[in-house]
Amino acid sequence: MDAFEYSSNPGRVIFGSGTIKRLPQELEALGLSRPLVLCTPQQTSQAEDVKNILGGKVAGIFSQATMHTPIEVTLQAVKYAEESNCDSLVSIGGGSTIGLGKAISFRKGFYHITIPTTYAGSEVTPVVGETENGRKTTKSDPKILPGMVIYDVDLTLTLPVGMSSTSGINAIAHAVEALYARNGNPIINLLAQEGVRALAEALPEVKKDPKSVSARSKALYGAWLCGTCLGSVGMSLHHKLCHTLGGSFGLPHSETHTIVLPHALAYNAPNVPSAMDALSKALPESNGDAVHGLNVLLAKLEVKRDLKSFGMKEEDVAKAAEIALSNPYWNPRKVDNRDAIQELIRRAWAGEDAK
Ligand code: NAD
Repeated sequence: MDAFEYSSNPGRVIFGSGTIKRLPQELEALGLSRPLVLCTPQQTSQAEDVKNILGGKVAGIFSQATMHTPIEVTLQAVKYAEESNCDSLVSIGGGSTIGLGKAISFRKGFYHITIPTTYAGSEVTPVVGETENGRKTTKSDPKILPGMVIYDVDLTLTLPVGMSSTSGINAIAHAVEALYARNGNPIINLLAQEGVRALAEALPEVKKDPKSVSARSKALYGAWLCGTCLGSVGMSLHHKLCHTLGGSFGLPHSETHTIVLPHALAYNAPNVPSAMDALSKALPESNGDAVHGLNVLLAKLEVKRDLKSFGMKEEDVAKAAEIALSNPYWNPRKVDNRDAIQELIRRAWAGEDAK
């Protein structure tokens, strides 16, 4: 076995159905009594539920969380937090809301409890991506990691089917890149394989029956494992491409991950035989070929496969390749051939098969 290093991220995790009701006792155990609740404008009713569970004892509700954590929203929320005299944060929502919680707690040091309602995985990473003047930059610091995660499967039942599928593939993408990370290790490989297995099984079941608590539980469990991979080891070409496409061309987060993943995996495949082998075992109906297994899953989920459907222009393909190559992440296969990367993005833009 190769030598490796492994550091686990601290944090308390509570998982199950109805677990949101544990919030009052968890806050009390921490000696906290005035949380500021964070959400998006679309999830104010879930934030109100949090307030009711706490018997109205919250410092306030800030409901303006926005995708890609714009700095102006964060500064507004920090001001609101100061004026409300809160002593902690409870973020309820997907990566956008959790990102806001991270951005505030990093600046002000508040204890942050997060209640995730998508499969994006931000709740278990010490990373936040913030946008200022149209540019997205990423900060990583142990202080950014939320102190507690309450996974309540019931809250994911309302996640629309399409978003459930793409958010689940977003999670799988974290595990895929963890399997060939430069700083990978056997523990994370186990989490990655189990995370992919759970999600690949659960997502078609969720599509068939979005209110199935057992399917939703398996999906959320998989999302936690895949998020842990994201929070523990470095990501490569796939995440770089999605970061570029989301940050510079405004493409939606989980849908972009879903479209790009087979292309990035096919590009890296020749250099990562053991990751391909592990993935093919975790993906049903792969017939020993991980890219095929992923395509089978995406076909079952009936998700969009082309970036042009989301408004990306053909002339942006070359620009995206240039940005992705300008400051590349480490990748198991060299990323120095502009034509090859441009062709990868073009195929994803057009919705052609991965090669
Ligand atoms: P999101 O948080 O933007 O949510 C998308 C929409 O779905 C929002 O309107 C939200 O209110 C709604 N929604 C969420 N859960 C719902 C539910 N259960 N029922 C009904 N509606 C629901 O989407 P996301 O994909 O979770 O997060 C994307 C953002 O998170 C991006 O900005 C991305 O960069 C960031 N992210 C960061 C990390 C990290 O480690 N820092 C990891 C993953 C994603």
